[in-house]
This record gives sequence, structure tokens and C-alpha cells, in this order.
Amino acid sequence: MAFNRRDFIKKSSLLGLTGLASSLIGKEQLHKLEEVSAEMGGEATFVLPALTYPYNALEPFIDAKTMEIHHGKHHQTYVDKLNSAISANPIEKDLINLFKNVSKADVAIRNNGGGHYNHSLFWQLLQPNMNASPNFPSGKINEAIVAQFGSFDNFKKEFSEKALKHFGSGWCWLIVSIDDNKLHITSTPNQDNPLMDVVSERGKIVLALDVWEHAYYLKYQNKRAEYITNWWNVVNWKKANELFEK
Ligand code: MN
Repeated sequence: MAFNRRDFIKKSSLLGLTGLASSLIGKEQLHKLEEVSAEMGGEATFVLPALTYPYNALEPFIDAKTMEIHHGKHHQTYVDKLNSAISANPIEKDLINLFKNVSKADVAIRNNGGGHYNHSLFWQLLQPNMNASPNFPSGKINEAIVAQFGSFDNFKKEFSEKALKHFGSGWCWLIVSIDDNKLHITSTPNQDNPLMDVVSERGKIVLALDVWEHAYYLKYQNKRAEYITNWWNVVNWKKANELFEK
């Protein structure tokens, strides 16, 4: 997609930003998002994490309206339903621990716990790219991708295909598999994720792509392939590398 410097400057001033939008997003702000739960009034309550960028910051690749509804409505609903499921059925409050035995949990906990966790991660793995700069990984994650898939382009092709072919709602992931400690591309239905004991391929999450229609329908309608192609422009590879090295 052509996106020239003038468009970028115009867009930046609309946002009230000077210089590169991405440079304004500090590390501390990103870390805030890692808090997927907070203790409130002595009772564990999950909260919607604030985004570290405005809703229109991912334009032209992901539109402001989609972000507003996706974060403000869909993610908020997972948080609300998770809180009510937890209060009706008090169990493990640490989601990562909970996912290890999620097969024993109520389906509302599995769906909404996954919904909250997956989206919290997804927002962190996105970053503005208003001048459409070439976007590719560097550091350890890049080395591992090249070692496993031959090249970044091969990896992109394989990941895109997996995301495109996933039937119905779900997520596409890049993980470090618990079986062989190597990078694998996998997809899960609904709000399941690779940390859960209900999925066939488990591992540490490095990259996440939401392929629910609510993630792209307003802008792309049925064209999931186009959404995936454009999503590569706003992947936060620094964050992915951080998750990989953790
Ligand atoms: Mn979603």
C-alpha cells in the first residue's frame, strides 16, 4: 500500500504527534500492559489494559473504528465476563497457571480468560507504522526464524497461510514448542491459546494474530488475506523478540 511522507506528516499532526509516532512509545508504557490482572479492594479483579497508542495509530493498516470496538467493546466484555465467572466460581487468579489446567475449569473461564489474555498480548505486539516503513525482525528472534524457516519471507508465507486457512474464529501463533524447543506456527480455535492444556501444540508465545472477524470485518469484510498482509506492517518485532528471549 502506497503511503507517502506527506500522508504520514498529515496523519501525525492529526494525532498531535511530532516525529515518528513509534519513538514516542516508551518502554515503561509497554510494560504497563503486561499487567493483565490487578488486585482491587482486596479482591482480585481483571482490568482492561490501556493501549499505549491511540485507536487511529495503526492506520492505514488497522482502522481506528475497528480498534475502538475491538479494544473498548470486545476485550472489555471478556474482562467483564471473566470477572463474573471468577466471582461465581473462585479459582486460580493467575491466568498463566490457570491455563495449565484449564481443561478442568468452567468453559466461561476458559473462553473469557483466554479472551482477556490473548488480547492483552495482541495489543502489545502491534505498533504504529504510519510511513509504512519496511518491518522485519532483528536480533535473536530473527536468527531463530531464519534457522527454522530458511528466511523471513518463507516464515511470513507459512504464517500467513496458516492464519488464512484457520477455519472460523481463532488465533494464529508463533511459539517456542515445549516438545522440541523450536519455533512452530500453530492456530487455535475461539480464545484458546498455546499455554492451555486443551491444545495440541503447546509452547511459549512469541507472536499472536487475531483472526476473528471482529478483528478485521469493518475494514476488510471477507478479505482475511488482505488483513493479514497489512498486519505485517504493524507487528512489534521488538516485543516479539522480548517474548522470545524471556
Ligand atoms: Mn479479538
